[in-house]
Amino acid sequence: MSKRRILYIEDNEQNFYLVNVLLKTKDYQVLWAQDGREGIEKAEQLKPDLILLDIQLPVMDGYDVAKMLRSNPDLNKIPVIAVTSYAMSGDREKALSAGCNGYIEKPIDPDTFLAQIDKYLPRADSGGNTQ
Ligand code: MN
Repeated sequence: MSKRRILYIEDNEQNFYLVNVLLKTKDYQVLWAQDGREGIEKAEQLKPDLILLDIQLPVMDGYDVAKMLRSNPDLNKIPVIAVTSYAMSGDREKALSAGCNGYIEKPIDPDTFLAQIDKYLPRADSGGNTQ
């Protein structure tokens, strides 16, 4: 079975390294993009199984990234999870209306993070449909 791949679009190194360490304990392959445009490019090139999306990003913010992913027929089936600050509650509604499937709050909670990710990954035996 090949490793499942998660693309994390995040400009903050500390957030990336924490998530990378957590996901590697479950044998996921973690891909990193550091701004919105690089995120779109890597999604197109690498077709990850899931995308984690920071909202406050250089070049193109997370809302615009989500809208572009959703308008691309090659990418619009990939689950996109916004990673939003707890304080910025308005972010969540905006993230969902931009096309994200859900959100995870920052700061990342290492005790619950993997279970949250697991909810959004397509099951291997369900044809990839998460609806
Ligand atoms: Mn950021």
